[in-house]
Amino acid sequence: MEKTNLLYEGKAKKIWETEDKNLLISEFKDDLTAFNGEKKSNEAGKGALNNKISTELFKLLEKKGINTHFKEMLDDNNMLHKRADVIMIEVIVRNIATGSLSKNLGIEDGKILPFVLVEFDYKNDELGDPKLNDQHCIILELVDNVEELDILRKVAREINDILKPYFANIGLNLVDFKLEFGKDKDGNIMLVDEISPDNCRFWDIKTGEKMDKDRFRQGLGGLKVAYEEVLNRILAK
Ligand code: 5GP
Repeated sequence: MEKTNLLYEGKAKKIWETEDKNLLISEFKDDLTAFNGEKKSNEAGKGALNNKISTELFKLLEKKGINTHFKEMLDDNNMLHKRADVIMIEVIVRNIATGSLSKNLGIEDGKILPFVLVEFDYKNDELGDPKLNDQHCIILELVDNVEELDILRKVAREINDILKPYFANIGLNLVDFKLEFGKDKDGNIMLVDEISPDNCRFWDIKTGEKMDKDRFRQGLGGLKVAYEEVLNRILAK
């Protein structure tokens, strides 16, 4: 499948059209950004690692009955997937408090939450991805109705129920992650974007070491080694 027009360039990926109007190619970039694009860098090989990790996780989720946009990994940096109208909501799933949850609400960093928390952020860089409640989502016409928000919450929890034990089995605590969803031409909701250490937090179960983009956000170094370790543990499973 060949790339035709560049449809969109985001912070971590370029999205290309193909000769099939229902299929797109995501090209995973080596660029790194944090704090809404204020901190920028580049790590050779990071895009390929995220493509490979996402491929394995999309395959796992598909096998478990989750509807995703994934078709196939084309090469190191390119993934073929279905076209979707992206829902402009970032669905955040949290098992352990850290990051913006601890910062905004003063919940102790590392506290295991009493239940899985699902939050919605507005996917809008200009506004800095603010928090949304259900009414905001309807007023902004991000979804057609509240039932669709319930579907997003339900599928996000199902994904957590699959991924949390999967990562525990390879020695990683799945702390939190961000999902994006889209609709196909018939209005069916599917998981889109990527699932990688760029949008998940993984803490090593034994050492507590951070194995995700927080290594860049917090200037810890060793980002690529950590991403490689996540991929190696997935592939060794
Ligand atoms: P927090 O809200 O604590 O910053 O992030 C919660 C989780 O969602 C983390 O795993 C983080 O990586 C992911 N996340 C939240 N917003 C974004 C975003 O705009 N881009 C990416 N790549 N991940 C995000």
